Amino acid sequence: MSRSKAWWDTFFLDMASHISNASLDPSTKCGAVIVDDQKRIVSMGYNGFPKGVEDSPERLANRPIKYSMIVHAETNSLLFAQRPLTGCILYTVPFMTCSRCAALAIQCGIKRCVAPTDKHERWQAEFDLAKQMYQEAGVALDIVEYAHDLARYTRNETAPSNDEGVGKNHSVGGRILQSSHVCALRLLEVCKGIGRCLSLRR
Ligand SMILES: [Zn+2]
Repeated sequence: MSRSKAWWDTFFLDMASHISNASLDPSTKCGAVIVDDQKRIVSMGYNGFPKGVEDSPERLANRPIKYSMIVHAETNSLLFAQRPLTGCILYTVPFMTCSRCAALAIQCGIKRCVAPTDKHERWQAEFDLAKQMYQEAGVALDIVEYAHDLARYTRNETAPSNDEGVGKNHSVGGRILQSSHVCALRLLEVCKGIGRCLSLRR
C-alpha cells in the first residue's frame, strides 16, 4: 500500500509545525521543511534572528526592528540546505511564503510549495505577489486543508483513529512520554541520517 500525496503533505506540514515551535517570535512561529522528489528531508528552518544576533524579548516585541532583522523560516531552510534544491518541495506553516522567500525559493529551483493558507490580514499583498511570481516561474503552489493536529500522520488513512491524540501519554522504552515527544521521536526516525535533526531531541 502506498500513501497518498495528501497524506505526505500532511505529514510534512506536521513536521514543519514541530520545527516552528523552536521560534522565539512571540507573535508568529513559522516552520519550513524541504524534501526531495524521493520524500527525503533535505532541510528545515524556523523564523529567528541571524546566528549570534541577540534575540532579546525587547527586540522581538518591537515589530519594525524584528522585521528588519528576522530571517524567515523558508529562507533559513533554503540557506541551511547542504545540497542543490532543484526539483524539491517546500512545506511551510502556518501560511504560504512571502514574496521575498518566494523569490529565493524560485532561484533555488523549488518546484512546488505547500501551505495551509494563502490568506493573512497583514501579509496579503506579499502573498498575492508571491502567487503571481510562482505562476510566472512555473512553481506549483498547493494550498491544502490542514489543521495543527500533530497526531494525524500516525493514523492509518483508511481507518482513522484518535488513539494517539496530542496530550495522551505513551510508554516508550519504559519511559512515559507525552504524545508530542513521541511525534518528535518519530520525526527523528524519519530524519535518520540528518544530524541537524538531532537538535529536536528533548
Ligand atoms: Zn518570507
